[in-house]
Amino acid sequence: MDEMETICAVSTAPGEGGIGIIRISGRDSLSIVMNVFKPKKEKLLRSATTHTLHYGHIVDPLSGQIIDESLVSIMRAPATYTREDIVEINCHGGMMPLKRTLELLVASGARQAEPGEFTRRAFLNGRIDLAQAEAVMDIISSKTDMALRAANEQLLGGLSQEIARLRDRLVSQLASVEASIDFPEEDIETGIGQSLQQEITSLRAEIRELLSGFSYGKILRDGFATAIVGRPNVGKSSLLNALLRQERAIVTAIPGTTRDVLEEYVNVLGVPLRILDTAGIRHSHDVIEQEGVRRSLAAIESADLIIVVLDGSQPLMQEDHRVTNEIRGKNAIAVINKSDLPRKFGTLDWPDIQIAISCRTRDGLDGLGRAIADRVKSGMSAPKEHAWAVNRRHKTALEQTDASLGKALESIQAGLSPEFIALDLRDALDHLGLIIGATYTDDILNRIFSDFCIGK
Ligand code: GDP
Repeated sequence: MDEMETICAVSTAPGEGGIGIIRISGRDSLSIVMNVFKPKKEKLLRSATTHTLHYGHIVDPLSGQIIDESLVSIMRAPATYTREDIVEINCHGGMMPLKRTLELLVASGARQAEPGEFTRRAFLNGRIDLAQAEAVMDIISSKTDMALRAANEQLLGGLSQEIARLRDRLVSQLASVEASIDFPEEDIETGIGQSLQQEITSLRAEIRELLSGFSYGKILRDGFATAIVGRPNVGKSSLLNALLRQERAIVTAIPGTTRDVLEEYVNVLGVPLRILDTAGIRHSHDVIEQEGVRRSLAAIESADLIIVVLDGSQPLMQEDHRVTNEIRGKNAIAVINKSDLPRKFGTLDWPDIQIAISCRTRDGLDGLGRAIADRVKSGMSAPKEHAWAVNRRHKTALEQTDASLGKALESIQAGLSPEFIALDLRDALDHLGLIIGATYTDDILNRIFSDFCIGK
């Protein structure tokens, strides 16, 4: 990937929309765009000041054909997303104007950008670090309000500062160990050995605290996987709608119409749930229905919390028992729906949390919300600030840092020479540096940015 080339890509989502934006970044951005864009006020463009908007047309330079009416924004380095010259073309948001404009830009010397290449340049040019670059993608893919807030805080450098602080402390320890290599009379086992052990132990404690934020952050980002199960017609779709507070799933009196597993995100008292609405569990000869049943069972397997819905206005049926048996021993809450109608059965022997509600009157929904939030939060204390930003990649790096620090401690305790201790500390420093990209390889960058969208 040539970092010197000028790159271009459609930055807006595919499909038809009001506006489609093509972004161009690199040294030749302006001259390439000038080749295909005819501004209304020709003279102004070349000398345009940074962060200005220009009206005109995209015109095929060979045929003279007008491709689109556009607004072009000019942003000059270094105060741009990539720290390079950036030009953005606002076309009409349709497939053809964007495709043709992009083709003209490529014909004029720009290269189509790889996924995440703009953000990769922002990192390589030192505008953001690697953890911040990841936060950009977290913002784009955030599904809950909390995830969005967390990602924004990370983009501002929350976790990065925390890591930088730990690195500084590690660097100063490494410096004193290295000094004792040069001046062996400063005995590592006695003098600095003591304080070094203390500092390493304290660093490890902080790293473990960060690590403890991983599962919390995962719930923030992905939502707490929740399956709503029950036989047809008990009110699963109605419950989902009540939770969403808007009519998204189709509610119908025909059994088994919610055939697919839909994923919806809801915020229950600040707890983001990723709800896997299922097709309902029941015996069926209908092939599609059976597929629904299979996926329901799969949803139960992958769920962190199961909400089993029962119809309180009818005696329990064999299918209800089948469902409650299926979830026995799992993290479950029973919702006894239709409390606006006379209740036809008593307390169940499972699970321990049973809540009567009416989706029709919304009675009991607040209590259900509290029960769900309590369940999710139980056994999960909020981690130290910024620790929620720890993603799987950071987690691995932190674990490796911790392991290297562990080895350093062992080396000290075994009375090894400072060279060995320095080696372990440098390892720890490298692993820690991976998080913010103080150390990185092309392979690491490729892995991170290949998950990005084109044009970001
Ligand atoms: P699902 O098949 O389990 O998803 O059930 P639905 O949500 O489609 O509901 C089945 C039927 O029960 C629909 O006719 C709903 O209007 C009705 N229903 C849902 N909740 C309630 C409730 O709280 N009270 C009453 N009386 N009817 C309800």
